Amino acid sequence: MLRYIWFDLDETLYPPTSGLMSAVGKRMREYLEQEYALSPEQAHALQVRYWREHGTTLRGLMLERAIDPHHFLDYAHDVDVAQYLEPNPPLRAQLQQIPYRKVIVTNADVPHAERVLARLGIADQFQRVFDIEFFEYECKPARSAYERVLRALDARGDECLLIEDTARNLDTARELGIHTILLMHPPAPAQAPDAWLDPAAQNKPTECPATAELCMDDILQVNAAIATLASQTL
Ligand SMILES: [Mg+2]
Repeated sequence: MLRYIWFDLDETLYPPTSGLMSAVGKRMREYLEQEYALSPEQAHALQVRYWREHGTTLRGLMLERAIDPHHFLDYAHDVDVAQYLEPNPPLRAQLQQIPYRKVIVTNADVPHAERVLARLGIADQFQRVFDIEFFEYECKPARSAYERVLRALDARGDECLLIEDTARNLDTARELGIHTILLMHPPAPAQAPDAWLDPAAQNKPTECPATAELCMDDILQVNAAIATLASQTL
């Protein structure tokens, strides 16, 4: 029996074309350039390596350079979300109709999540935000991140459904019995000038992967997708 819907935040509740994550990624590279006197190319290469080997830039920095995570997170997320996002009443209407409890499960931090949710006009739709600090910096797709959320909700995996735009975050969720829907944004017709710099953007699947029980291409399909999945598998 489904009880909880877990929503990823960034590029799930708003599209990549907003440019917000490009701006955050750029801030992360600037941090690397400034702190370690790197060229933009070196900073990008380091960011990609950290993303592949440790899941996030921050995790790589913590493990290999012992940095203060708060300093990094504050720096990276110091962007004006209002410049990139608009209130989204249709999304709010969709969320209001979902007959399950809703939480946010994000690799960003709570202050960033609160700013994004407030700007979209949907902050009151979520019972709780589980963030990178709650995960003790072992982010999605680490199995421990999902196990922490399950414990906090006192829920079994099959009582939860994760809605994500990052395919690699689904594998461990499925191992724990968590249901999965992948949001596959249609490829952008014209790439933003620095889109190539986002390692996550380079790893988007073109077909619905086996670890997703269902795929959709627009967050406004979320209600129909949940209903379909619920009727098929729950
Ligand atoms: Mg995401």
